[in-house]
Amino acid sequence: VNHYLSNIKKYEHLNALTVVYSNEALAAAKSVQKKIEAGTSGRLAGMVFTIKDVYCHDAHDLQCGSKILEGFKSQFTATCVQRLLDEDAILIGRNNCDEFAMGSSNENSVFGSVINAAGENRVPGGSSGGSAVAVQADMCLVSIGSDTGGSVRQPAAYCGIVGLKPNYGRISRHGLSAYASSFDCVGILAHSVDDSALTLEIMAGADDYDTTVSHTDVPAYSKNSNWDGIAKVACFDNILSHEGLDEEVKSATSSVYDKLQSLGHSLDHLGFDYLDYVLPTYYILTTAEASTNLSRYDGVRYGYRSENGHDLESMYKKSRSEGFGDEVKKRILLGTYVLSEGFYDAYFTKAQKVRRLIRNETKKIFESHDFIVLPTAPTTAFELNSHDRDPLEMYLEDIFTVQASLAGLPAISLPNGTDKNGMPIGIQVIANTFEEEKLLSFSKYLV
Ligand code: GLN
Repeated sequence: VNHYLSNIKKYEHLNALTVVYSNEALAAAKSVQKKIEAGTSGRLAGMVFTIKDVYCHDAHDLQCGSKILEGFKSQFTATCVQRLLDEDAILIGRNNCDEFAMGSSNENSVFGSVINAAGENRVPGGSSGGSAVAVQADMCLVSIGSDTGGSVRQPAAYCGIVGLKPNYGRISRHGLSAYASSFDCVGILAHSVDDSALTLEIMAGADDYDTTVSHTDVPAYSKNSNWDGIAKVACFDNILSHEGLDEEVKSATSSVYDKLQSLGHSLDHLGFDYLDYVLPTYYILTTAEASTNLSRYDGVRYGYRSENGHDLESMYKKSRSEGFGDEVKKRILLGTYVLSEGFYDAYFTKAQKVRRLIRNETKKIFESHDFIVLPTAPTTAFELNSHDRDPLEMYLEDIFTVQASLAGLPAISLPNGTDKNGMPIGIQVIANTFEEEKLLSFSKYLV
């Protein structure tokens, strides 16, 4: 704990943590130490971790990177966090993130931007940017982020670490503040595949508080051995030739394909016909879900309340106008629009149909392949404030991560070298439904 606390101090300027639980972590360390001596410690004894500022932790601040939750304290602890604590992991702090997990650069936070430890003026990716940097700069061993459309995998790629999004419904969302409920997944940022596997094993599995969690047995991911068969891998040529794909990311991705082939695995070059539709579908559905999920922040029940309202209606309006940041407001407006009478069928229903097509098309690939391997993001970490003017440019950062999110499939980002400026590059592997075990064993082999 002292080691991590000193790194937290040293890297304060990266702005990765919003709250540091120094005293609590030191006290927890003492009690875990006693348990270790008595031989009664849990499986994660002494594992120091952080959580994204979207997770409930009983009686502690929860702000989702937003002014609207100023002063709010959780009334219970998220299931995934509690399961780690129950195994004697030590919670050392909360991570900065994009407001309500909406963003790809961690520049949309009331606490200010997070900075990538690999480059002074570079974003860490988002929305779990603070979590990625906390692991990258050794401020904790593991961090719990959330991945709705890439928010664990893309920052992991930008920071040169491992980012795992399990299958939708593998880990309980109880205590994870909702952004888009049919997409939201608890995700893990870590230095190694083994650390991710053990953390997943402890957090996964049925929970009375979340009926969408699978009741199937949780495999012993931590006992996973290296992949030792011939893998049938699919890749997409229209991704490799995509105009937004950075040349250095492209050549790093091709090197992985070459390596796989030279090791005797089969590599099928396919096309993915729905590539142009993944972002519009994702942004229609997630903004629709967000607009309803975020309607609960009304100035009455949680956090911030404007002083400027003169009746109930204007108090609601002023609290929401003053409490939410621009990106969140934009998404609430967009989501409300696509759900409104007269537009619902044209946008929301249509997008749901396209989601189903994308899922079916992706699942079809797994009938004859073990994995899809593709870049995690089209570029490496870009400069702070460089994507301010064009929101579409920012949304394009998610083009390779949202396919797995739309299909609900498990996916991981692994480090894959750096570009000429020393910025990390990520490679992504997607597996079939609930095949995290296979995904982790192949990932272990690949890195
Ligand atoms: N960047 C994507 C978005 O802004 C993904 C966010 C996420 O996964 N939470 O929606």
